[in-house]
Amino acid sequence: MIKTPYYLIDKSKLLCNLEKIAYVRDHSGAKALLALKCFATWSVFDLMNQYMDGTTSSSLYEVKLGKLKFGGETHAYSVAYADDEMDEVLSHSDKIIFNSISQLQRFADASSSHVRGLRLNPQVSSSDYLIADPSRPFSRLGEWDAEKIAGVIDKISGFMIHNNCENSDFGLFDSMLGQIEERFGDLLQQVDWVSLGGGIHFTGENYPLDQFCARLKAFSDRYAVQVYLEPGEAAITMSTSLEVSVLDTLYNGKHLAVVDSSIEAHMLDLLIYRLPAKMEPCEGPHSYMVCGKSCLAGDIFGEFQFDQALQIGDRLSFIDAAGYTMVKKNWFNGVKMPSIAVRQLDGQVELVKEFGFEDFVNGLS
Ligand SMILES: *Cc1c(COP(=O)(O)O)cnc(C)c1O
Repeated sequence: MIKTPYYLIDKSKLLCNLEKIAYVRDHSGAKALLALKCFATWSVFDLMNQYMDGTTSSSLYEVKLGKLKFGGETHAYSVAYADDEMDEVLSHSDKIIFNSISQLQRFADASSSHVRGLRLNPQVSSSDYLIADPSRPFSRLGEWDAEKIAGVIDKISGFMIHNNCENSDFGLFDSMLGQIEERFGDLLQQVDWVSLGGGIHFTGENYPLDQFCARLKAFSDRYAVQVYLEPGEAAITMSTSLEVSVLDTLYNGKHLAVVDSSIEAHMLDLLIYRLPAKMEPCEGPHSYMVCGKSCLAGDIFGEFQFDQALQIGDRLSFIDAAGYTMVKKNWFNGVKMPSIAVRQLDGQVELVKEFGFEDFVNGLS
């Protein structure tokens, strides 16, 4: 028995997403790069890199991780590079995508023999949250002025556009891509590759995969470009759980259960977006507010139904715990960091990483 708390990555669930990604690659000609900012748990890269072409990154460390642990095609992107990062970024990447014309110009000489791209900001997006909206007012994420971009087109061979956010609506994807074509069509004609970024939830149930593939292929044919997709969430959705145990139960007008984990430390993304954690649906009559063990008053995973009253020692499992979760775990309150376990394709569960007091100590000095 592995001691809770731990994240459990189930490779057979991961495979469901990866097979859809492979289908899209086959039927659209697009290449698929894992967005490491969403998920960087490299012990399952040996499975993922059989179905995906490589990785994309947000920083020097991510690009190195992608190159060293995933392999394949490695795209480097960052909102801004520091001068002393450039050599290592270039030596660990196949392409570099600059966020601004000014960064492109600053590193023009250093990167002259590298494949270069620029991030476009189409000023239209599908985000429900201002904090995550790349097209928010005054956004720093990419260039939007076609005239200015045309002035540096000789320095680049591709574009990256990331404006889909948790978008499971093919019609919306299609219409936003149409707007991009209308506005930037002349520029798209002049490059060899276009990355359409992440945020397209095409591995979800009932997504019209064939229509999606046809749309990607038509785009690729129209501009004679290699299309890239950068799935983060879509690659790992519903593959992982956070396994916890009940440490205490209380009644304060509601039944409360305190578990050996913390939403702030171990599922921080949910707290940022004010979303409850998800548990396997259960219809039982016993209602509990499940809380974390940090001292943050609002460290609450959510309210869930159970078929029996919860007892100390009971095991609970939060589902869909891979994306933007493991990459954001932290040592708040010194709460023991969840271990990482992998359910292999043969069903065997393997503990691949445990964190201890030493890791806590080494995080600061
Ligand atoms: C965040 C991000 C992704 C991945 O987004 P998901 O929503 O996890 O698919 C891909 N590309 C870029 C540039 C990003 O910023």
